[in-house]
Amino acid sequence: MYNKENIFAKIIRKEINADIIYENQDIIAFKDITPVANIHVLVIPKGEYTSYSDFIANADDNEIASFFKSVKHVIELLNIEKNGYRLLTNHGDDAGQTVEHYHVHIIAGEKLESLNARSKE
Ligand code: AMP
Repeated sequence: MYNKENIFAKIIRKEINADIIYENQDIIAFKDITPVANIHVLVIPKGEYTSYSDFIANADDNEIASFFKSVKHVIELLNIEKNGYRLLTNHGDDAGQTVEHYHVHIIAGEKLESLNARSKE
C-alpha cells in the first residue's frame, strides 16, 4: 500500500528540498543524502509505486520503458559510462529497503566494492 507521506513523495511535491540533478514530467533524479560513493544518485518515477515489483506489475509498458531510458539519460549527464557505474534497487526487508517509493540507485565515481564479499570469507 503506497503511503503518500513517504519522503520521496514529499520531494516530488517539492515539500522538502533535494539536490535535483534532472527532472522531467515523469521522473526526478537527485543526490542521495547519505552517499555510499563519490557519485550516488537516486532516480524515481513520479507515479505512486512502492518498489520495483509494484512498478513492473502496475505501470504500463510505456512508463516502464520511459523510466529506464531516463535512468540512462541521467547516467549520460553524470558522465560515468566510461569508468563504470552500478544500478541497484532494494525491495523489501531482506534487501533493506527504507523508502517505500520505487527508486533506482546509481552508484559510481570510484572503484566499488565487489558484490562477491561472501566468496572472500
Ligand atoms: P533504500 O534503502 O534502497 O530504500 O534507499 C533509500 C535511500 O534514500 C537511502 O540511500 C537514503 O540515504 C536516501 N534518502 C533518504 N532520505 C533522503 C532525502 N531526503 N534526500 C535524498 N536521499 C534520501
